[in-house]
Amino acid sequence: MLNGKRALVTGSTSGIGLGIARALAAKGASVMLNGFGDGAEIEALRAGLAREFGVTVLYNGADLSRPDGAGDLVRDTQARLGGLDILVNNAGIQHVAPVEEFPLERWDSVIAINLTAVFQAIRAALPGMKAQGWGRIVNVASVHGLVASVNKAAYIAAKHGVVGLTKVVGLETAEIDITCNAICPGWVLTPLVQKQIDTRAEAQGVAVEEAGRDLLSEKQPSKKFTTPEQIGDLAVFLCSSAAANMTGSALTMDGGWAAQ
Ligand code: NAD
Repeated sequence: MLNGKRALVTGSTSGIGLGIARALAAKGASVMLNGFGDGAEIEALRAGLAREFGVTVLYNGADLSRPDGAGDLVRDTQARLGGLDILVNNAGIQHVAPVEEFPLERWDSVIAINLTAVFQAIRAALPGMKAQGWGRIVNVASVHGLVASVNKAAYIAAKHGVVGLTKVVGLETAEIDITCNAICPGWVLTPLVQKQIDTRAEAQGVAVEEAGRDLLSEKQPSKKFTTPEQIGDLAVFLCSSAAANMTGSALTMDGGWAAQ
């Protein structure tokens, strides 16, 4: 279905990004991976995906907190894959603290990676997509792009920004075969969330499993984690012809969180 398409997935060495990269590769797209981690493990991941799905899989470890790190990553992808058809802005970080204790440098790095890098990647990708007359942009925002929770000021400001940016890009490309949509997951069990569960377990003196159940029951009515595979399938749908007239939208996959 995506044979011949060239995709970049930021932050795809783990979690949701890896789920999306796998799903796109499984549909025949060539993929540029990005993100941090152990060099040997990333190489095993890259080679494994290429072998399993018979597609080209490359890696660029660009740091998206750097000024225009995201733009450079897009340009390198265009050069090495011969163009870019699918841009998935997924890389993201979290920092948890009340507003008045929120360190400015943490605010700056969350905004840089979760919002500014999304803008820079889109800005770099659009001219090529317009020239070829086709493009799919999928931004991994969050249910926290639609509603708030305490102690996550930078993350929630950035994710609301991503949803707004998604609408603008959707409008600016509405008459071309380019779409821009946001996916808004609730809790997905990834290293980013595991860290929050571990902190919670320690603070409350309870087992990690119990802390995970508590976390879910607070906000996510289904009481089940979404999986990276489910998010990957939604990203594939957004790249399919069935979704060609969907743009500027924010799709929740949150077990009912935002419905409350
Ligand atoms: P994760 O920590 O498992 O993965 C994050 C990825 O981003 C990793 O590959 C990491 O190496 C990469 N990354 C981090 N900083 C980077 C930088 N400066 N430059 C390049 N890459 C960098 O997290 P995840 O849970 O898979 O989150 C992925 C996205 O999904 C994030 O945008 C997150 O906000 C969003 N999200 C996650 C959840 C959840 O419950 N896990 C819910 C809603 C939204």
